[in-house]
This record gives sequence, structure tokens and C-alpha cells, in this order.
Amino acid sequence: MTESTGGSDVGRSETIACREGDTWRLYGRKWFTSATTSPMTLTLARPQGNGPGGRGLALFYLELRDEAGRLNAITVNRLKDKLGTRKVPTAELLLDGAPATPLMGLDNGVRHIIPMLHLTRTWNSVMAAATMRRGLALARDYAKRREAFGALLARQPLHADTLAWLQAETEAAFHLSFYLVELIGRDETGDISPTDADLLRLLTSIAKLTTGRQAVAVASEVLEAHGGAGYVEDTGLPLLLRDSQVMPIWEGTTNVLALDALRALAHGDDGLAALREKVAGRVAATTDAALAGAARQAEAAVDHAQHWLRATAGDRTLLEAGARRFGLTLGRALALALLVEAAEWSLAHEHDGRARAAALRFAATPIDLIADADPRLDAALANDEPLPVV
Ligand SMILES: Cc1cc2nc3c(=O)[nH]c(=O)nc-3n(C[C@H](O)[C@H](O)[C@H](O)COP(=O)(O)OP(=O)(O)OC[C@H]3O[C@@H](n4cnc5c(N)ncnc54)[C@H](O)[C@@H]3O)c2cc1C
Repeated sequence: MTESTGGSDVGRSETIACREGDTWRLYGRKWFTSATTSPMTLTLARPQGNGPGGRGLALFYLELRDEAGRLNAITVNRLKDKLGTRKVPTAELLLDGAPATPLMGLDNGVRHIIPMLHLTRTWNSVMAAATMRRGLALARDYAKRREAFGALLARQPLHADTLAWLQAETEAAFHLSFYLVELIGRDETGDISPTDADLLRLLTSIAKLTTGRQAVAVASEVLEAHGGAGYVEDTGLPLLLRDSQVMPIWEGTTNVLALDALRALAHGDDGLAALREKVAGRVAATTDAALAGAARQAEAAVDHAQHWLRATAGDRTLLEAGARRFGLTLGRALALALLVEAAEWSLAHEHDGRARAAALRFAATPIDLIADADPRLDAALANDEPLPVV
């Protein structure tokens, strides 16, 4: 989808689709495509004569190669020299009459490609959790072998505190991602309640933006947990940070997904009500006193977010400015409620307090990030402009 005119704003796409006889052919330049090694792809192009914006685009199915294995009227101009994810080559492509098949009509392409985005964003959330877990495993292993100041790092209280935080973030990302996967599974098997369907529409963006930020923070800490070795290429550790940094960028940046979450709530806050119901259910069901406190904390954060949304609904500037804090608050609050749920299960069935410890450790991190900002002050800071003192 991404062209040099925009990756977030794909409605500005300049690729043209022309009907030539019985075949549609695409002409244009795709600026970021990681599907070059794939046999097929979905893409967007504007059928000749269509209007501007996302509505004027159509969704096309395109096979990259012909039967002899040659690219189908596609030229790879360049492979991106990327910070990470180098095993997934990303190309700048020229579509020079590439044959393509329209799917789902000849307009509203952005709307039609959204189901695919839901899956790639879910995949991103799962990958974020997986990357965090790998980094944590390496950091934990190192802490059990490396001595400093007469003791293993694992036995140093402050290092243990750091590793405990990494574990809590990793478990939170895991539960958030796989709750999303569970809802998708229910949806695909026709077994989803209307409430969960509302939540699903909101959760794809929330989970992706929350776990994307977590992945970068955790990867950075994992490198630091290895000291100087974490910064040295031959340990393989810098790769973790480089690969993690893409998580909040591709498939929609943090800000763009935060705005997408607002869009999901624009015609009614059913998704938010469903999220609140899920979190409030934990408050009612939790028997362990400390875990119940954590569940109440999650519920209070969601209530604050809901209140903020209603209070700012009429002010687009305030709403957009606070969208990231809003999205992250929902993601972290739901993750906390899911950790509480898993902890109760683990106490009852596994007689193990580790999941409880993870929930309580996560509860000690910032969950409610809602804060009122002054757009006038922010504008001055963002543009580095002088701000008269009044
Ligand atoms: C490794 C890699 C592989 C990729 N592979 C693919 C691929 O296969 N297919 C594909 O289509 N794309 C791909 N992309 C592109 C990627 O999806 C886009 O780069 C991304 O969506 C951001 O779009 P952009 O680059 O146009 O940034 P911009 O949209 O210019 O964004 C720049 C900054 O502005 C912010 N921003 C933008 N709009 C708003 C707004 N309204 N309010 C607040 N903030 C805003 C963004 O959050 C971001 O921080 C890939 C990118 C990378 C890094």
C-alpha cells in the first residue's frame, strides 16, 4: 500500500489501474513493499476516472511472477537498507502494467483491505510478545551466569527488580495479544457475542500499539541487562533491538493506530463499554485481595479513559492530542485485567504464585496515562516556537 505520498494516509495513493481489454493493469510506484518474495499480494490502486481519497481506490489481487518465475511487469528499483528485519527484504517497486484482479468492486479499497490489516496487526502483536520473551530469556540466562560485586546478577536486588519488570511486561503483552487471537478465533468460527465483536474492532489497534511500544522498551532494557555485551554485534543482541523497533512503525504507527481506535469509537462507544465489562468482570470475580486491588486499578483506569473520551468528544484537537495516552491506557488496563484473570487461574489450578507476582508487578507500572494537555503549549514545544509568558 505504502507510496512516497503516504503510508499512514494511503488515500493519497497515486497508483493507477487501467482496464486493457479483459485485463486490469497497474501503473505506479510502491515505496515500501515487503511482499517481494511472496507469490501473491493484495494492493491498492485507483481505477482511471475514480475520485480521490480512499474511496476512489480499489483492492486488487496481484501475482508477482509468471509461470517462468519472471516478475509480472514489476521492476524492483531498490531494496531498502533497513535498520532491522533484514531477512524480510523490503523493496521499492515500479508497477509497469502489472496484471491484477479487482476484488470486492472498484472502489472503497481502503475499507476492503482492513480485514487483512487486522490480521497483520495481530501478527505484529504476537511477534512483539515473542520478541520480548526471547530477549527476557537471554537476559535471565545471563543474570544467572554473570557475577558482579561478589554475587550473580540474578541475586542483585536491583537487577532482579529490572528482570521482574521485563517479565511482567512480557506476560502482559502475551495475554493481550492472545486474547485478541481468541476473539478472532471466535469471530471466524461464528462463536462471538455482539459485545466481544465490538471489543474486537477496538482491540486490534489497541493491542498492536500497546505491544509495539512494549517491545521496544523491553528490547532496549534487555541490551542494557547484558551491559557492554548488549551493544556488541557478535552477541546477536543488537539485532533484537533493531527488529523490535519496527513493531511500532509498520502496520500503522502508534499514533495512527491510536487515531484508528478513536475512529472505532466514533459511532458509539460499544467497544469501550465491552472492554470495561471485561475488566469489571475481573473485579467481581477475583478472590485474592491483592489481585482484586489490581483489578480495581484497571477498572479505574478504564473509567478515567471513558470519562476523558466523553469530556473531550466535542474538541477534535484535544481528542487527537490525547489519543495515544487514551489507547495505551486501554491496552495496559486490559492487559492488567487479563493478568489478574490468569493469576487467579494459576493459583487455583497450578498452585503457583508466579502469575500473581507478574500481575502485581505490572500493576506497579503506569497503567492510567490519561492526562490533560494544553494544545497551545504543545504546539509551541512541537514547533520550538517562543511562548509568551502571560
Ligand atoms: C521495514 C518496513 C517494512 C514495510 N513494509 C511495508 C509493506 O510491505 N507494505 C506497505 O504497504 N508498507 C510497508 N511499510 C511502510 C509502513 O507501513 C509505513 O512506513 C508506516 O505505515 C508509516 O507510514 P509513513 O512512512 O508514510 O509515515 P508517515 O505517515 O509520514 O508518518 C510519520 C509520523 O507521523 C505520524 N503521523 C502520521 N499521521 C498522523 C496523524 N494524523 N496524527 C498524528 N501523527 C501522525 C506517524 O505516527 C509517524 O510518527 C514498511 C515499513 C517498514 C519500516
